[in-house]
Amino acid sequence: MVELRGVHKSFGPLQVLRGVDLDVPRGQVLVILGPSGSGKSTLLRTINHLEKVERGSVRVDGRLLGYRQAGDRLHELPEREVLRQRTQIGFVFQSFNLFPHLTVRQNVTEAPLSAQRRPRAEVEPLAERLLARVGLADKADAYPRTLSGGQQQRVAIARALALEPKLLLFDEPTSALDPELVGEVLDVVRDLARSGTTMIVVTHEIGFAREAADTVAFMDAGRIVEAGPPAQVLDAPVHERTRAFLAKVL
Ligand code: ATP
Ligand code: MG
Repeated sequence: MVELRGVHKSFGPLQVLRGVDLDVPRGQVLVILGPSGSGKSTLLRTINHLEKVERGSVRVDGRLLGYRQAGDRLHELPEREVLRQRTQIGFVFQSFNLFPHLTVRQNVTEAPLSAQRRPRAEVEPLAERLLARVGLADKADAYPRTLSGGQQQRVAIARALALEPKLLLFDEPTSALDPELVGEVLDVVRDLARSGTTMIVVTHEIGFAREAADTVAFMDAGRIVEAGPPAQVLDAPVHERTRAFLAKVL
């Protein structure tokens, strides 16, 4: 479903991604761990083409994002087409990013109505189902500011799901939350993992990685240093840098 080959990305002189290869098969969950500044967020952003890669390729469902291939040549797609492609990839950020002036229901229905032009009669019941799924059926008419951080993040997850994405990306979805609110959000993410959603989750929650991941990848200085089943990477890491990192977070 997701296939990265030799992905490189720099910001000016700073090399942030230095040749990343990744494969996430359909229905699987990849958890990415790694120290601050190692390039985790940048990597997620290249996957939905919020960042253009300099070298290498990113394919989602067999397609190169942002480009049309004609023989050996790549043609950049117009912005409108990139936006359409991007709706197939849900992105949940650390900082929720809900629309403050819209109710919970409107936050969930906004993109399917405006970006996908789906009929309201279809989108409203979808929003009800998704809000029930994240345990917020009773908050549909509330405004984001009246919700806890955990509730806001669950709305953000429902909003991402409303586009019925092929792939969900999570960038530290619980790191802005008070500790007692982390569990309720991870429960929702875990439930999605069980239902076979293809996901890439950047998180420092090792317990979650252990339970929910098919593969754990450890990233350092713009490279995937090691990757494998959770028991292997978390309990028997091969690389010194992985060991040092885990010793700090565990
Ligand atoms: P954290 O755990 O703190 O979120 P991260 O692993 O997600 O870190 P990135 O956000 O991907 O790391 O950043 C990697 C490096 O790239 C950092 O040194 C950061 O300052 C730099 N960087 C990221 N985005 C930009 C940008 N738009 N312009 C310039 N530098 C950037
Ligand atoms: Mg980050």
